[in-house]
Amino acid sequence: MIIVMSANASREQIDNVEKKLSSLGFRTHPIFGDVKTVIGAIGDRRLLDTHSISTMPGVENLVPIMKPYKLAGRELKQVPTIVKVGNAEIGGEKIAVMAGPCAIENEASYIETAKRVKEAGANILRGGAFKPRTSPYDFQGLEEDGLKIMASAREVTGLKLVTEVVDTRDVDLVASYADIIQIGARNMQNFRLLKEVGMHKKPVLLKRGLSATIEEWLMAAEYIIAEGNPDIILCERGIRTFETATRNTIDMSAIPVVKELSHLPIVVDPSHATGSWKYVSALSKGAIATGADGLIIEVHLEPNCALCDGPQSLRPSKFAQLMEELKKVSAAVGRQI
Ligand code: PEP
Ligand code: MN
Repeated sequence: MIIVMSANASREQIDNVEKKLSSLGFRTHPIFGDVKTVIGAIGDRRLLDTHSISTMPGVENLVPIMKPYKLAGRELKQVPTIVKVGNAEIGGEKIAVMAGPCAIENEASYIETAKRVKEAGANILRGGAFKPRTSPYDFQGLEEDGLKIMASAREVTGLKLVTEVVDTRDVDLVASYADIIQIGARNMQNFRLLKEVGMHKKPVLLKRGLSATIEEWLMAAEYIIAEGNPDIILCERGIRTFETATRNTIDMSAIPVVKELSHLPIVVDPSHATGSWKYVSALSKGAIATGADGLIIEVHLEPNCALCDGPQSLRPSKFAQLMEELKKVSAAVGRQI
């Protein structure tokens, strides 16, 4: 339920409505707009005595929230969410670009990659320290040693870090190093993990599950916001279809659909979406043209020798060239990069 407060409602009246809702067992999420304040009340609607709320001083009207994702949806919050990470903003006018290798392999190559992607214009550095690999025999990541290497790359370049957490037991550790915590596609419906990152203050990059519908994806975001963390960046990374020519099938329509249904920013991962570096440039341009707020791209100094996802990684020179080309596309849709 959305409680719309009248334009001249006082702070005390807003607080009183929140207290009343809490006493009825509802969680309240006030949104202070320029003109009006609205309060999202999340809980069992059968327990809500609408008459007693609608007659409280300062209340204008009550509007039911029809979508199951109450907090992630546009019904409650119409203005887009802009997630701030250091100097970078995701969801504003500027396109955010996150880049780096799939996995951190060693300090020297990671720091060199970090410098190169920064030089090319990336705003955030990616890298995996805990890798969710399909095969248990594949490289699983350097774990905390990898996070330490990421922290030194941040020192050297000033770039903020995005890195994945795969297990609830590691959330505190990962959050102590990361600037953005990544939830991978395979964990999009790991509800305990979603709740755990919801209890932290760090922004979350929430990847779309391999076979998740947009509604399931927004419900995953809802889990995180419901715990108190509103800073979510959605990431379209391709979904499973019958097509085998690419690793996954990018769902470009998810971009405008998510923009219509949710206030959350959305970025695109063209690397995992295609599995091949050859297509990364075309899809990056397509994503920006379609309205994405940013990109997350895998870059490796020597893709042939990468321990993880080499075939889909761009060399730094190719990445720099792409960043140049993206300037024109961004300008054409009224954005900057
Ligand atoms: C990754 O970003 O390294 C990754 C494993 O991605 P996804 O969860 O989208 O497969
Ligand atoms: Mn990868």
